[in-house]
Amino acid sequence: MNNVDILIVGAGISGATLAERYASIGKKVVIIEKRDHIAGNCYDFYEENGILTSKYGAHLFHTNDKEVWEYVNQFGEWYPWEHRVVARVDDKTVPIPVNITTVNTLFGTDIKTEEEMTSWLNSSRIHFDKPANGEEAVLNRVGTVLYEKMFKHYTKKQWDKYPAELHASVLERIPVRNNYDDRYFSDEYQALPKEGYTMIFEKMLDHPNITVLLNTDYFDVKEQFEGYEKLFYTGPVDRFFEFKTNLEKLEYRSINFVTEHLDQEYFQENSVVNYPGNEVDFTRIVEYKHFGNQKSAKTTIVKEYTVDHGEPYYPVPNEKNQLIYDKYKAEADKLTDVYFVGRLANYKYFNMDQAFKNALDLFSSLETPNRKDHEA
Ligand code: UDP
Repeated sequence: MNNVDILIVGAGISGATLAERYASIGKKVVIIEKRDHIAGNCYDFYEENGILTSKYGAHLFHTNDKEVWEYVNQFGEWYPWEHRVVARVDDKTVPIPVNITTVNTLFGTDIKTEEEMTSWLNSSRIHFDKPANGEEAVLNRVGTVLYEKMFKHYTKKQWDKYPAELHASVLERIPVRNNYDDRYFSDEYQALPKEGYTMIFEKMLDHPNITVLLNTDYFDVKEQFEGYEKLFYTGPVDRFFEFKTNLEKLEYRSINFVTEHLDQEYFQENSVVNYPGNEVDFTRIVEYKHFGNQKSAKTTIVKEYTVDHGEPYYPVPNEKNQLIYDKYKAEADKLTDVYFVGRLANYKYFNMDQAFKNALDLFSSLETPNRKDHEA
């Protein structure tokens, strides 16, 4: 296939953003997507009970970045949605992130003020100047008892590793609060797309310069493309190189989503309920109808079991994988006009807004005239 300026592998956030940007400056773009749909892991659809559901787990958009917020708003309407999560712990239900209510409910304390909560946390925490791993990160924030009850087993189920075997950053994704704030995120902009994420992607890719080839594995068809200016690859970085190097494979975690359609209006009181103990194998149950307060006589729930095999969703951030990744990165850096973008190609545990941001930044660094010279 000739007459392609920009070849993109993957129609998720990174691929769709680059496609949209390049099409806007008159380039002919082809996206090659292995799956039978666009939108990557953001893909959502209306399931049999008429409920907008995500195929690959709940996706909550949140950002402090005004540029990203304005960018996503071009492709559909978003409504404000502050995500909240509760956890079942010791037959009790508590907010996560840990806040005053969490501590009072689990320990029968009567903390009322931020000062009291700060001093409770100070007397519970084990101080680390610079937490070296996930366990130290949690102990440094909340101490041993909450570590055991809320983080240790959940993490083992999610990663098949204990927090000590992971980067501190994994556990530091979740804040600890000294007040009553029970929102999962603290960002300025928190919202969901009114018609779902898939429609946002439809709009991004709805341009005469963009062709999307679904059900197509790049590695099966790559010989058919020649003469393009740039290739953006958003798949797993190790897959790209597997034919050329004998580097070790990177670790990924996948999720086995087990769906149940129930003949009742609601199953649980909240969109997401976490199960941080080891009594059950799943990490959480998502009841999608809560997102946007969707109405339906029936409901659908999805239990999430994190597993080794299957489609790669999460990189596993720790020292060992970082060292392996660095070797792939060195190979990637040797290539000209080939760019590795996004969660799987950069082997980074990005949030959605970071994925948009990286793709937008890459586009402007490549396409703003003299920008690099100017910065240098
Ligand atoms: N985590 C935990 N207990 C919880 C929620 C999260 O131990 O109830 C830990 C766990 O290691 C998890 C990490 O914090 O992988 C990050 O959680 P987040 O909700 O950001 O994960 P995601 O939604 O990306 O799966």
